[in-house]
Amino acid sequence: MIKENIEQVESNIAKACARAGRNRSEVTLIAVSKTKPIEDIQEAIACGMTEFGENKVQELTHKMEVIGTDVTWHLIGHLQTNKVKYIVDKPLLIHSVDSVKLAAELQKEAAKKQTECKILLEVNVAEEESKFGFHYDEVLAAVQEIAAFPNVHIQGLMTIAPFVENPEDNREIFAKLHKLLLDIKTRNIDNVNMSVLSMGMTNDYMVAIEEGATMIRVGTGIFGERNYNI
Ligand SMILES: *Cc1c(COP(=O)(O)O)cnc(C)c1O
Repeated sequence: MIKENIEQVESNIAKACARAGRNRSEVTLIAVSKTKPIEDIQEAIACGMTEFGENKVQELTHKMEVIGTDVTWHLIGHLQTNKVKYIVDKPLLIHSVDSVKLAAELQKEAAKKQTECKILLEVNVAEEESKFGFHYDEVLAAVQEIAAFPNVHIQGLMTIAPFVENPEDNREIFAKLHKLLLDIKTRNIDNVNMSVLSMGMTNDYMVAIEEGATMIRVGTGIFGERNYNI
């Protein structure tokens, strides 16, 4: 089933890229394997997947240990400051930096371990109360502050759009985040690289690609529904 699912997602990505006049190579597909067993990840690897996303630090570090780092790992869930020490020296992209305080903790631990870390800033574009992330209007000031942290490197922006029946309803949100990314990019801030736009999940990744996503995070569409009760 995973193989067929990946083929379906790939075909949808190709269609969305074609509609937007984009090249397939501009979009990185992250398989979101949270709650799924190691065997599912291995099956996805056998189908050619090379990027995996997890939302919990403990689950991520465990899976990294078992699977290894020939594949690329992404932390996409909320990160508590007290967990930073467990992941700061791991080769991964942290999509979910949602406060300057968290970035400062990453700087502190990265300096201590003489390592560097790559991050995205999570933006709560839709201003949903239940979600983490910077307010849209705070992002530029946060980027400027975090840019001064020598061991922390901003690579771009991420958002989790609302769950909607019709993915078209999220188009404006994706377009708005893309605009912010371009605004920040033109400022050429030292130690800031605005090359990654992480947006779009199973329900809405095609619209996200049409609006400029460079990373899409697909869980259910690849691994099937998640069961949180087992
Ligand atoms: C779970 C999760 C996803 C994947 O969600 P699906 O709807 O299953 O594709 C993507 N991004 C984040 C941040 C998530 O937590």
